[in-house]
Amino acid sequence: MTPRDLSPASIAVSAGRPHAPGDPLSAPITLASALVPGGDAEYARAGNPVWAPLETIVGELEGGDALAFASGIAASAAVFSLVPAGGVVVAPTHGYYGTTHQLRQRGDVEVRLVDVSDTPSTVDAMRGATHVWLESPTNPAMEVADLPTLIAAAHDAGALVAIDNTFRTPLRERPLELGADIVTHSASKLLAGHSDVILGLTISRDPELYAALRAHRHDHGAIPGALEAWLTTRGLRTLAVRLDRAESNARELAERLTASPLVDEVRYPGFGTIIGLVLDDDQRAQRATESSRLVRYATSLGGVESTWERRRRHANEAPTIPAGLIRLSVGIEDVEDLWSDIEAALA
Ligand SMILES: *Cc1c(COP(=O)(O)O)cnc(C)c1O
Repeated sequence: MTPRDLSPASIAVSAGRPHAPGDPLSAPITLASALVPGGDAEYARAGNPVWAPLETIVGELEGGDALAFASGIAASAAVFSLVPAGGVVVAPTHGYYGTTHQLRQRGDVEVRLVDVSDTPSTVDAMRGATHVWLESPTNPAMEVADLPTLIAAAHDAGALVAIDNTFRTPLRERPLELGADIVTHSASKLLAGHSDVILGLTISRDPELYAALRAHRHDHGAIPGALEAWLTTRGLRTLAVRLDRAESNARELAERLTASPLVDEVRYPGFGTIIGLVLDDDQRAQRATESSRLVRYATSLGGVESTWERRRRHANEAPTIPAGLIRLSVGIEDVEDLWSDIEAALA
């Protein structure tokens, strides 16, 4: 059966498994710096066999060729290495702040920050752009972009388009099918799913882009560790059930929070596992996040355990993010337990 015949949930479980008699169904963690010459790589900065199942699964899910990186930020650095000096990059004002920071650090490129939910302004900003970077929903503002329209407009403007698909995952959206040139992930979040890994990925279809990203990974040593690659592969096997459960929990919680007088604004686009809660009183928001018991007060997102934090407690977060905005990452716990905990903490 070719992968095309399988649904994404089945691909996540079955892709990347060996077929040779005697091979383990789950590829081993390969702890090696040197490999026997004559194969694809003879030094493990160029290639480690433990990356192969991970890159196969994610490549089949996203519909392209995947490369594993040391982190999500290492993956975006590889993409930005494609932007020449004097390039013009359009990116979300309220995207992941680490990515925005990275772009600004470049110094030799023009960065145009936009509200990606405002399609006409985003399209306007693309005039003369060389690269367009999009997140939808944005982290942590939860703005949703009209990806098909924006991708087409970027191509009309002659720009290359990269989409950070961390929040949606390929089980919910496949940006390469919408025409995007590159997809990136922080697999540290939903793909690995257990808050025990830092790892990133790029996925592309164009052989030249793939070769450039791969060369950047090699030349900058932006490679994932063997254990991290193995744990991400292990995490991906259960992505479909974790996502279904966390998303149904998030939908239920978003509905109850919207009806609750304890929250001033709920930002939930109707899908996904992340909810933005805005409290007018930011000190109350901070106290709430520190007083929950089941929902852990922590940064990061996408784990089996629910976490939340007030984003502006990070000095680098965009100043236009409300001081009382809490980013809640919903996990797979019992939804009634989550609701009791959240209600008590907010009260
Ligand atoms: C966390 C995150 C990143 C950065 O990934 P790391 O794995 O932490 O380096 C990039 N984009 C989004 C949307 C994220 O949430």
